[in-house]
Amino acid sequence: MTGFAYRDGEMHAEGVALSRIAREVGTPVYVYSSAMLRANYRAFADAMKGLDAEVHYAVKANSNLAVIRTFARLGAGADIVSEGEMRRALAAGVPADRIVFSGVGKKVSELRAALEVGIRQINVESRHELDMLDGVAGAMGKRTDIAIRINPDVDPNTHAKITTGKKGNKFGIDIDLAREAFAYAAGKPNLNVLGVAIHIGSQITDMEPYRHAIRRVREFVGQLRADGLDITRFDVGGGLGITYRNETPVPIDAFVGMVRQETGNMGCALSFEPGRRLVGDAGVLLGEVILVKPGVARTFVIVDAAMNDLIRPTLYEAWHDIVPARQPAANAEEIVTDIVGPICESGDFLAQKRTMTPLAAGDLVVVKSAGAYGAVMSSTYNTRPLVPETLVDGDRYAVVRPRQTYEQLIGADRVPAWLE
Ligand SMILES: *Cc1c(COP(=O)(O)O)cnc(C)c1O
Repeated sequence: MTGFAYRDGEMHAEGVALSRIAREVGTPVYVYSSAMLRANYRAFADAMKGLDAEVHYAVKANSNLAVIRTFARLGAGADIVSEGEMRRALAAGVPADRIVFSGVGKKVSELRAALEVGIRQINVESRHELDMLDGVAGAMGKRTDIAIRINPDVDPNTHAKITTGKKGNKFGIDIDLAREAFAYAAGKPNLNVLGVAIHIGSQITDMEPYRHAIRRVREFVGQLRADGLDITRFDVGGGLGITYRNETPVPIDAFVGMVRQETGNMGCALSFEPGRRLVGDAGVLLGEVILVKPGVARTFVIVDAAMNDLIRPTLYEAWHDIVPARQPAANAEEIVTDIVGPICESGDFLAQKRTMTPLAAGDLVVVKSAGAYGAVMSSTYNTRPLVPETLVDGDRYAVVRPRQTYEQLIGADRVPAWLE
């Protein structure tokens, strides 16, 4: 028994009824399944057998220490985009030499912190960053391994807000300018240029954009070698999609198989940087219906989980499956409803025009596939305490981030002396 399923009429995470977690921890609350986290990771690890490759889990998708540690125990490294994420990865037990630092705007202080702990590699995204990093490394008397992220100009056919590898996106160095940038980097005394990195977008459900991008990189690496550069690493990025509604994601083994085939004679160690694919379907957001408000146009189900807890529906027009925690009868009637939070914004919805069985005050609702870009994007808007997180493992569960108290939330503010 793995993942999320009805058992005896009640939605369970593995062996734990969600109603039990709601009773003991309260709602809203995130619930993650260890079995699903592990199964997702193992799908990568199994597909990579015999390849010179590593998984660097993209920590920003879900950066709870317990989640990172679950992967670290299985041998995962980490892909980070801030000093904070580096600290989390280290605290979760990821060895420094398995950490790769990505991101379009790293600060000098962050670069210094990364060099201090000796992470594996910094993925540089601009000429200016090459100057900054060379300066920081020089001042510390160090030399650091880098890859340069290039923008291969492919369209991954995903939402505009998560497209990152097309001309016009802020990420990476345009492939047309990149050869020059590599030559420039090679002249820097404190940088050891050994890799090319890409990351073309997120929630990608088509393998062809990856294939195109990889072929471009392959050709490009040939040019770099002709220029005398010793390129030995290739980061293929993350971005693999999951099923939210009716998408058919690329199977992990097919994806890794494609990469294996396309990079076969490249002579590069590979890095995969999945985020969403490892955690997305391994988490749900559990909420409780506060009240049902019939309207003229439609019925509003107002739940205690809101856009501050899960912003994806309003930010990305994302569709999340929402089901009652108590299994509806097979022939139950269905109505069209909006499932919304209590926040003072019309954009505060979890689902619009959703056809489902009627809900009543006190019912628990399960927002599925919320393990990625859920809790990490939560806020305290409307002075709502940060949402708690729980991790299930078989018949046991643990609170892996308690609900923030009002003392912590309000007590963090300071009133200046002149207002006292
Ligand atoms: C966000 C990010 C990832 C992970 O993206 P997913 O879509 O969650 O797999 C990987 N690499 C880099 C550089 C990223 O910024």
